[in-house]
This record gives sequence, structure tokens and C-alpha cells, in this order.
Amino acid sequence: MIRSIETILADVPTIRPHKLSVATMSTQTLVLVRVLCDDGIEGWGEATTIGGLSYGEESPESIKANIDTHIAPQIVGMDAAKVALVMARIRKAIQGNRFAKCAIETALLDAQARRLGMPLSELLGGRVRDALPVAWTLASGDTARDIAEAEQMLALRRHRIFKLKIGLRSVQEDVAHVLAIKRALGDEVSVRVDVNQAWSELDAMAGIAALEDGGIDLIEQPVRAEQRASLARLARRFSVPLMADEALHGPQSAFELAATAGADVFAIKIAQSGGLLPARLVGELAQLAGIGLYGGTMLEGAVGTAASAHLFSTFATLSHGTELFGPLLLTEEILCEPLEYKDFMLQVPTGPGLGIRIDRDKLARLRRQ
Ligand SMILES: [Mg+2]
Repeated sequence: MIRSIETILADVPTIRPHKLSVATMSTQTLVLVRVLCDDGIEGWGEATTIGGLSYGEESPESIKANIDTHIAPQIVGMDAAKVALVMARIRKAIQGNRFAKCAIETALLDAQARRLGMPLSELLGGRVRDALPVAWTLASGDTARDIAEAEQMLALRRHRIFKLKIGLRSVQEDVAHVLAIKRALGDEVSVRVDVNQAWSELDAMAGIAALEDGGIDLIEQPVRAEQRASLARLARRFSVPLMADEALHGPQSAFELAATAGADVFAIKIAQSGGLLPARLVGELAQLAGIGLYGGTMLEGAVGTAASAHLFSTFATLSHGTELFGPLLLTEEILCEPLEYKDFMLQVPTGPGLGIRIDRDKLARLRRQ
């Protein structure tokens, strides 16, 4: 039986300013959910989002309020082992709130996998890989600083895929910044951009043409999420793959994008999808449609990152790797043993459930009072 649900906010400074076209982050607010069951088993989930309300329609505070006030009372007392039934109750009673739903579902699946003594990946269909390639985002906004940061990551053998956040400056300035970094890093290194919806279709035509010429190998969400026809036209026009991110809000939008050849690659995010199982469906739709897969992040801490890693480890193909570097952007670790990043890969945890242990003392110090 589900005995209690606790929602915790923890403000953690980032290691450097993280500049997006919509916000500059210097702190990340982790939203953690702990489900306690009456057999003594607990499960953890995460509903962290980016930049308050600048990226999406749920904020850390609204997620906490909605879970505490509206979602928890619906499900406390239900059978914790019947995760699908619990989630069906929530999905019937609560509109939207994809991040909150993801955190609850993750916590219930973590608890159930622990109960069964198996890694979460096995409950999600079974892993086909134990490690995932991880991109690093260069987002200081300064060309020399970004090159130095990339060279350091290559030397540490931590990342060899780099994603640049652009869209704040003019198209010409952004293109010059990106291509200077690509030239400095060379052909062996993958350099990609995320425009976070900042361009008009005309901007995108000029920008993508120049980036494609310069050897950039992936362009993420160049235009507004609602402008699906525009993204589809651009995908048809250019050979460099275009990736949908903000345009993907779970299985229905994935189906519509796939049906209209609206993107070449999907950035799958468990929270944006509304949970691990809806995200799995997004992945299956992509594979049926011949669309590439990239494991995305909402810059979650260790809980959401581990949950995502378990799911992404089950995809038959993962053509464009992942960006599961969230915990590395934070100055504080909330696990007893941190997630392992080595040889350019994140190692998918192997213990029961999420396979992680929360450092309670650390979390008690970080949590918002
Ligand atoms: Mg993105």
C-alpha cells in the first residue's frame, strides 16, 4: 500500500552559468518525490524542470503544490505494486502536469523494481546496453572558454559529443561562434546545436545551411514548437538531421510528428513525455517510423538521470546517444555513490530499482525550508 508521498525542493548551484536562449541558469532546483510503501520499501522520482517557467508550463513550486494537494490524496492507500492502475487513476483525474506524473511514476516503478529485486531497466522491457554515450553542453556563451572546456572534457575522456546552446545572438554571430568551435575541435568530435526555438523559418534556412556546410551534425529545435509544418519543411530541405525537442510532449505529439515526417530525430525526455512508460512509447513510435533517437535531459539531478538511463538502455537503437550529464552540472552530489561516467559513457546502474542510494544528510542540508 502507498503510505505517504513527500515532495522535496532542493536548490543546488551549477558549476558555471548555463546560458539558454530562454534563460541563464546559475542554480538548479531539484524536485524530488519519495513514495513510502507500507512494506517498508520506498521509491524515488524526480520532476526537475529548467529555468522556472521560461522553458515549460510547470515550475518547481507548482509541481510540489500539485503533487501535495491534488495527486497524493488520489493515490495514498492504493496498492503500490499495481503501478499501472495507480497511474491510470492519476491520468484520469489530473490534466497535464507531465513532470509531476513522471516523478510519481518513476518513484512507484523504482519501489516495485526494488520489491522484485531487479534493476528498473528490466521492468521496462530489459536493457540491451550497460553504458550510454553522453554529450556535454557548452553554454558559457564565450567561444574561447567553450573551446577550453571541450578540450578539458576530451582530455578527461568524459565527453566527445558537444552541444552548443545558441539563439540569443544574431544568426551570423551564432554561426561564427559554432564554426570556430567546430574548427578548433576537428573532424573526430561531434558538434551539434540547440536553438531552443529561437529562429524564424527564414533565419533557420540561413543558419542551418551555414552550419551544415561547416560540418555540424545535428540541429535541435530551430523553430517554435507549434510551428510543426515549418520544422517539417526544414527537415525536407536539409540533409543534416533536425531534431524535435520542445515539440515533443509525449506519445500523441510523437505520433503526429512521425505521421507528418516532422523531424529526423526525437529528443526523448521522460518528464516531457509524462513518465517512463509514455517515454518508452515515444521511443517505439520513433523506431517504427525510422526516426533517430537521442536521450534528452531536463538537467535533472541523479534520480531523473538514473531513471532516464534505465529507459534509454532498453531502446533497440539509440542513434544519437544521450545528454545525461545533469548531475555533472551541479556543485553538490545527493547520492552516497555518484553515478559513474567513464570512457565517454554513463554506466547504467545495476542494483535493484534505480540502483542508487540517496545521501539523506546531504539532502536534508540542501532542501528548501
Ligand atoms: Mg533542447
